[in-house]
Amino acid sequence: MDPKMIDGARLALESERERLRVELAEEVEHPRVSHGAQTAAATEVTESQRGQQLRGREQQHLVQIEAALGRIEAGTFGRCQTCGKAIAPERLEALPWAIDCIDCHARTRR
Ligand SMILES: [Zn+2]
Repeated sequence: MDPKMIDGARLALESERERLRVELAEEVEHPRVSHGAQTAAATEVTESQRGQQLRGREQQHLVQIEAALGRIEAGTFGRCQTCGKAIAPERLEALPWAIDCIDCHARTRR
């Protein structure tokens, strides 16, 4: 795999990781839900759940990014974890954290 491509992917992954870390940290410092308000309790529950779902997705995404950076270090970046073939460069450019090639992804997609 082209080292320039790997460098580009690493940069993209690192900046995405940074963005997610900031977002998750802000979430802790400034929770979207204000506790103790008497009004609109039902709405607050919904928004709290939505916030948790969003956080869950961000955390999951962060895990995927960490894993991809780990694969760069290990030298296995860009290989499909299902069939072992090289993942298409266009796919890695769009989704540097992709773990499978487009064929396997299409097969395993729910
Ligand atoms: Zn594959």
